[in-house]
Amino acid sequence: MPLKGPKLEKFKQRLLAKRRELISEVRGSNVGSLETSTDGIQDIADQASSAYTKEFLLSIGDAERRMLRQVDEALNKIRQDTYGLCESCGEMISERRLEALPFARLCITCQEEEERAKARS
Ligand SMILES: [Zn+2]
Repeated sequence: MPLKGPKLEKFKQRLLAKRRELISEVRGSNVGSLETSTDGIQDIADQASSAYTKEFLLSIGDAERRMLRQVDEALNKIRQDTYGLCESCGEMISERRLEALPFARLCITCQEEEERAKARS
């Protein structure tokens, strides 16, 4: 079962906030120019996630584009009603994981699996 209702909305807002920050990071201070209408009002209520994002961006340097794509993919999934489902096994990704990583594609089990596979190759 994908996430629904207020919980889904919370993650959506978080993703939108992250997207805005990523865009401003990639394109200097010119926020908004790249902003497509994801849908309607986008108020950032979640200051904590915003601070988290800033800190995160400082630590990742130029991985922003890749990140932005992941955020967009997550937003697409929200539109398609598949947000929060693991792309590999189809199981629900735990909310705790989504809290930390709202654009996670894989559940923790598959993520670890993937990392092990990478480490081997
Ligand atoms: Zn999985």
